Amino acid sequence: MERIVSLCKRKGFVFQSSEIYGGINGFWDYGPLGAELKRNVKDLWWRAMTQRRDDVVGLEATIIMHPKIWEASGHTTTFADPMVDCLLTKKRFRADQIDPQSGVVYHFSGAESADKSKKSDEAYSCLVAPGKNPELARKSARQFYQQRGVAEAVLLGERTETVENSTRYNPENGSLLTEPRLFNLMFKTYVGPVESAENVAYLRPETAQAIFAQFKNVAEVARQKVPFGICQIGKAFRNEINPRNFTFRSREFEQMELEFFIRPDEAVEAICGEVARPAGAGHPGPPQRNWGWQMWHKYWVEERLAFYENIGLPRATLVEYWQKPEELAHYARATVDILYKFPFSKRDEKGELAGEELEGVAARGDFDLSQHQRFSGKAMTIFDEELKAAWAKLDEAKKSALAERYFESRRNYLVKMNEAPEQAQKQARQDATALGSGMYVPHVIEPSAGVDRLALALICNAYCEDQAPDEKGKLEKRVVMRLHPRIAPVKAAVFPLLKNRPELVAKALQVRDLLRPFMTVFYDDAGAIGRRYRRQDEAGTPFGVTVDFDTLGEQGAELKDTVTLRERDTMKQSRVKIDALPTLLLERIR
Ligand code: ATP
Repeated sequence: MERIVSLCKRKGFVFQSSEIYGGINGFWDYGPLGAELKRNVKDLWWRAMTQRRDDVVGLEATIIMHPKIWEASGHTTTFADPMVDCLLTKKRFRADQIDPQSGVVYHFSGAESADKSKKSDEAYSCLVAPGKNPELARKSARQFYQQRGVAEAVLLGERTETVENSTRYNPENGSLLTEPRLFNLMFKTYVGPVESAENVAYLRPETAQAIFAQFKNVAEVARQKVPFGICQIGKAFRNEINPRNFTFRSREFEQMELEFFIRPDEAVEAICGEVARPAGAGHPGPPQRNWGWQMWHKYWVEERLAFYENIGLPRATLVEYWQKPEELAHYARATVDILYKFPFSKRDEKGELAGEELEGVAARGDFDLSQHQRFSGKAMTIFDEELKAAWAKLDEAKKSALAERYFESRRNYLVKMNEAPEQAQKQARQDATALGSGMYVPHVIEPSAGVDRLALALICNAYCEDQAPDEKGKLEKRVVMRLHPRIAPVKAAVFPLLKNRPELVAKALQVRDLLRPFMTVFYDDAGAIGRRYRRQDEAGTPFGVTVDFDTLGEQGAELKDTVTLRERDTMKQSRVKIDALPTLLLERIR
């Protein structure tokens, strides 16, 4: 990871934000290559998610929205992580990310100075790992009491206790941590000149809520019928307690989110007579009318995995992790996290990299739109003509069975949201009746991915060290970024063999201009050709195009107007006609 971070800085993929002032923790800037890489990632996602589909449209909403949105979504009350501080160093951790420790804990009830002029009754504890010297605990305790004004402390009330898998101690120094306190991750600001409670607003911690808030507007103008989706790419902000692992956990980052709205299963059953459920592994194929939420969820998990493979993350580097029932958010029916095996990932029992989250694909029921319906007082229901027509043809027993199921799920939701039981009953009954006339709040499948995490995964996956011959043919170490041509920041580098030969330079500039309308091209005439290749290898440029004397026809007419095409990964060189270059390269980078 250290080598990757250093290459990112050296080549201009990623810089620390505000570096000249010492940086600011959790914020990162993308340099020239990183900016292109990120742009490619977003473009490819946008193309795959909306431009190449009939059933998804785009949205671009503001970062600051009405604060009620975050009340409805639950973020103001529940978007919090447990935070703990080291009693000795004050270092802050996320309590749920502390690795469990075992060993002997040394407890102290207090301390006093040798001359008894100073005393502290504050208790302190320190864990000593098996095989480590117990003096470490006493040393740590003396430091702790020194910070409280008791110099050269005589420790009081020492006792020991054996603990296993405890997360109460700092993994770095064994010191006791504070009790966990919940910390809301939303960045707060004020809208307008007055810093008062009624002007508080938040930087969005996710892009998804804007999609729900604009659902009705988009559904009307896009002339889409459920099932259909709305997608968005944009900045999100989270005041993470402990930003770490380079850009993986940042405080400002970008998300790519899709909310794909589907019929409730009761509506599918009324229309199709049945609800198809996943049978077996793999992609379930093109969407079908009889799909319920489980098929749609499976479909999106598979679509997203295919997307990652398509931009160069091999399947073996990805993990499809189904959240366990106890891990699911209360409204989620199922969530699959797509993990990438980052070099900093934890290892499982078998010593394999476990992977860290790139994206979550969640089946969220009708929770989000229902919440906005309750908080805004605006209906989030849609009218489904097909459902109304199908319902009218059902026999009474079927109608009542489906209505009852729908009633139950609506009531459960309302009760969970603390509606009074009678009110929940009444509202759910109305909702069930409305279903029969074709009205419902759509359910949703949410694939939610992070641009920065994906860019980092692509960088980690591409980093490679191998051997290449130097000017004299001697093998030397080569760093090469094996980025897939689709996401490589620069697609082709064009080199004149020598920079002091105007004919070569003129021809090379012509080649550059020929390719430029189709792809990012980098022109480089500085230094030995081998060195120029090497620089592009580190930048991940998949193709090098060299204009030499053969190009000018000096070795015979048959080589005139041909160039050397060098491939980054294999370092293979071939002779290609200049005219054929754009088509040949486009085939490889699209
Ligand atoms: P984590 O458990 O890692 O904090 P999360 O489950 O809270 O992530 P979501 O709320 O599901 O994440 O956000 C969707 C996606 O947004 C994540 O899969 C990730 O790619 C990205 N993301 C979330 N938080 C961050 C962050 N602090 N820095 C970079 N990307 C992030």
